[in-house]
Amino acid sequence: MINIYDMTREDLIEWLNTQNVKSFKAIQIYEWLYGKRVTTFDEMTNLKKEFIDTLKNTFTIEGLIIKRKQEDDTAIKYLFELRDKNLIEAVVMKHDYGTSVCVSSQIGCNMGCAFCESGRLKKVRNLLPGEIVGQLLKIEEDANLRISSVVIMGIGEPFDNYDNIVRFLKIINDAKGMAIGARHITVSTSGLVPKIYEFAELPLQINLAVSLHAPNDEIRNKIMKVNEVYNIDTLMEAIRHYSAKTNRRVTIEYVMLNGVNDTKECAFELVNLLRGMNVYVNLIPYNETSHLEFKKSTQKRKDEFFEILNKNGITVTVRREFGGTIDAACGQLRANEVKDK
Ligand code: SAH
Ligand code: SF4
Repeated sequence: MINIYDMTREDLIEWLNTQNVKSFKAIQIYEWLYGKRVTTFDEMTNLKKEFIDTLKNTFTIEGLIIKRKQEDDTAIKYLFELRDKNLIEAVVMKHDYGTSVCVSSQIGCNMGCAFCESGRLKKVRNLLPGEIVGQLLKIEEDANLRISSVVIMGIGEPFDNYDNIVRFLKIINDAKGMAIGARHITVSTSGLVPKIYEFAELPLQINLAVSLHAPNDEIRNKIMKVNEVYNIDTLMEAIRHYSAKTNRRVTIEYVMLNGVNDTKECAFELVNLLRGMNVYVNLIPYNETSHLEFKKSTQKRKDEFFEILNKNGITVTVRREFGGTIDAACGQLRANEVKDK
């Protein structure tokens, strides 16, 4: 049985064709699932009984279960349980202008970044498209809100689960699906270069963010293993290609780690590295975790770093801190639930 939330509208149409059923039924099914949000096939009252039986014999409608929920003024953090009892998390961030949600793309992560809690617990498996869509559906239902933007920055490396992520993007971007505008969706990668080239060919206007976190290979090798395979030069070339091909500005994520990548020298090196590129830098305050020794940069260091970038013509923003009191760093909630392996 297939979870129907795994299916893009094209997937459904393909299946309908094999059943000799008209393609427009896909729209009706999507309207029930994502418009009216029904959770049983029997509620799809404009479909014939016989066709409903065929649907029931082929698909399930499978949502997620909320295992734990923590909330403060800025964020709501959900821990979800999947059918196979694995746990994943998603964070709702409350802005003045709307609600954004950070979703997970895998159970654990194999990229092994030294500062990251998700990487500390190795990958168990990829998430299916429906399990990522399910995070959004459950949140909208539980918190009674309409999600205005989505970032794939939770647990996992989305480009290590590329095909499922593309399906997920198509489903939530579909006007008959969750209808979230492509410009309101961001995918963050640690720098899987071949997938950046592949992503550039996708006819969707999704935002791309790249976790750079260091201005040179020496530092990046120490904190991000992926750099040993795709070094900074290779990565920069891919980013240049991406922004040239899509005409889109890429976000460079830079997590501020005390004494590791936050010196003035690092800031100047970063300026030189990014000069002339169609990018902007998002400085991320590090969320300290009890299992890892990294510390967040001091306010003074952050201010100096910001000023150097700013004065030298690099567009730079600082990410607001969300859910400081509720273990909101990626992977923290799950890590506290899943005992050390
Ligand atoms: N795997 C992807 C997306 C998930 S991680 C990636 O690495 O880009 C999303 C972002 O959170 C990345 O920039 C990552 O480096 C950062 N991050 C990981 N652990 C963090 C922590 N404890 N505090 C702040 N940012 C963190
Ligand atoms: Fe994986 Fe991203 Fe964490 Fe690195 S930062 S271990 S790629 S989730």
